[in-house]
This record gives sequence, C-alpha cells and structure tokens, in this order.
Amino acid sequence: MGTDCLFCRIVAGEIPATIVRETDRTLAFRDIDPKAPIHVLVIPKEHYADVATLALDDQELAGELLATAAAVAEEEGLDADGFRLMFNTGAHGGQEVFHVHAHLLGGAPLGPMLC
Ligand code: 5GP
Repeated sequence: MGTDCLFCRIVAGEIPATIVRETDRTLAFRDIDPKAPIHVLVIPKEHYADVATLALDDQELAGELLATAAAVAEEEGLDADGFRLMFNTGAHGGQEVFHVHAHLLGGAPLGPMLC
C-alpha cells in the first residue's frame, strides 16, 4: 500500500511508534491515544484493509497475528485477569485506519466499553 497508509508508514519506520513486539510478519505497538491502561495495536506488516480480507486471503498470517497478540498480552501481564482483543471493521464497525489492526486492551475492568 505504501505512503498513503499510516500503519504501512509505521512498518517502514517513517512514523515513530512505541514497538512492544515484532516478528517477521507482524508488529505490535502502543496506541497513540490509549482507551485502557494497556492498549496495544497488533498488525500484519503486509497491507490488508481489514480482518475479513486478511482472514480470507492468508489464514496463516491471521493466526500469526493472534499469536503475537497473545504473546504481548502475556508480556504485559494481562493473561491472569484477562483482556479484550477486537477488530473494528469497516465504516459501521468504527474502523478509522484501513490497515487491519487488533486492539489489545487491558489493565483494568473494561465493561461494555467500545473502542
Ligand atoms: P480504529 O478506529 O481504526 O479501529 O483504530 C485506529 C487506532 O489507531 C486508534 O485507536 C488510534 O488512537 C490509533 N492511531 C491513530 N494514529 C496513530 C498513530 O499515528 N500512532 C499510533 N501508535 N496509533 C495511532
């Protein structure tokens, strides 16, 4: 996708981000405007617009994305009390950045909060 995509630019190192985990194909970094004490975004380095496109096109990468999210949750100490992992998808889903990203949220009881 390249220069038009904010998260592709983070992958390319053109925009700074606080990276918490990186694998060959995924990147996890802190959300710039956290909605919970811990709020990490987990993305594939390759550009896919949303989770549906990713899941249909590359199930292995979708699985790696979830594994990265689970590893970050453990590293951040969220595995004991739990966390929320969510994908806003499309306009009605509230998606604002159209490079698929999982929101990993935790560190406090979240209730019915939407992100
Ligand atoms: P969406 O609404 O698309 O599901 O979520 C986009 C997320 O990206 C929001 O939580 C927003 O705070 C975050 N975000 C937007 N711009 C940046 C940025 O430049 N850096 C980081 N780290 N997060 C961003």
